[in-house]
Amino acid sequence: PRSGDRRMSLTTKIMLAMGLGLVFGVIFNALDSDAIDKHLVGGLFHMVGRMFVNALQMLVVPLVFFSLICGVAGIGDVRILGRVGGKSFGLYLATTATAIAVAILIALVVAPGQGFVMEGVDTSGVTGKDAPSVWDTFANVIPRNPVAAFASGEMLQIIFYTIVLGVAVLMMGERSKPFVEACEYMNEVMMKIVQIVMYFAPYGVFCLIAKTFAEQGLGLFLPVLTYVLVLVGALLLHLFGTLMLYLKLLSGLSPITFMKKIRPAQVFAFSTASSNATIPVTLRCVTERMGVNNSVASFTVPFGATINMDGTAIMQGVATVFLANVYGIDLGLGGYMTVIAMAVLASIGTAGVPGVGLVMLTMVLGQVGLPIEGIALILGVDRLMDMIRTAVNITGDAVVTTIVAKGEGQIDMAVFQNPDAGVISD
Ligand code: ASP
Repeated sequence: PRSGDRRMSLTTKIMLAMGLGLVFGVIFNALDSDAIDKHLVGGLFHMVGRMFVNALQMLVVPLVFFSLICGVAGIGDVRILGRVGGKSFGLYLATTATAIAVAILIALVVAPGQGFVMEGVDTSGVTGKDAPSVWDTFANVIPRNPVAAFASGEMLQIIFYTIVLGVAVLMMGERSKPFVEACEYMNEVMMKIVQIVMYFAPYGVFCLIAKTFAEQGLGLFLPVLTYVLVLVGALLLHLFGTLMLYLKLLSGLSPITFMKKIRPAQVFAFSTASSNATIPVTLRCVTERMGVNNSVASFTVPFGATINMDGTAIMQGVATVFLANVYGIDLGLGGYMTVIAMAVLASIGTAGVPGVGLVMLTMVLGQVGLPIEGIALILGVDRLMDMIRTAVNITGDAVVTTIVAKGEGQIDMAVFQNPDAGVISD
């Protein structure tokens, strides 16, 4: 307990910063002043926002490395490790597939984009990307040069290498003790740095949100309002419906408690539009606030941030139906099955960074023969959609993490039940 009861908690401050950012952003957008755009929004806000995201990203690779080594050492048994890996992989695929199937169904019923007039849309500069082959995706999990993998932040390669290292360390038995202790120490140090970065979060969040809304405004929504409404509806349904159903049915844990505890990570994901940059916060939320043992979370959280993108898959589904309607093309059942398979595969091979969903969409569209230029239609609103779907993405990671942890008996229910556990302030 601290004497300054009148001081706001960090979470409250961050929420407030979000609200203020939104209000200021919309005002600046309406003012439409060159000086404000150049010096304040594109200058100061851009700089502070960037600094904040950079600081989060600065933590990701070392944090994943040290916490994963501790995780593997903590599990202490390669078979359990395999089980945790298998379960989380299966659940990540299942949640993503459900997400996009439901999204396509909703979009087919509501039929957004019918009667849309394709005039005055600038489609230049939109280029497609080929889908990575499944075989290559899996082959590339093994890094040829671990240093290069670490340097460029290739998350799957980093996870693979670190697990191999961790397993080797386990096999060395007693002799590894000093090394494991050093990693545990470094893990704590990294968490301390997370705390330092979080201290500045309200300013970073304010600048990121204000900049987005100042640049985007709300007017961009009108032409594609049906797309936005269906997409946001499907995202919310997945967040509050499907994912919570998975949680309740497979772990028996309370969705309400879960939602309260994951909120800080959702706010960070929303502000940064990057699952990767949110890894440090997601890790803290599931371990310190929900009581998930690091041995599970240190693996499932970075793994999920890379391969699990429910929100992104939902966007692919709604966008394909929308564009099929705009162009008057009937994809048929086979077409939509292809979309589901493609979106699930693409989410494995691509990292959780801002805007990657659009790149994936070009692969999906190319695969089912829809014109790639159609993306120009939804480009304007994509940043905001990216923010919402990233929050859904990391919630999916946390849901699977808690389900797996519960199944393995690796969750401290006293912590999960305690509303004050791991409050991210102070
Ligand atoms: N920004 C998303 C993420 O980091 C990916 C995307 O949908 O663009 O999870």
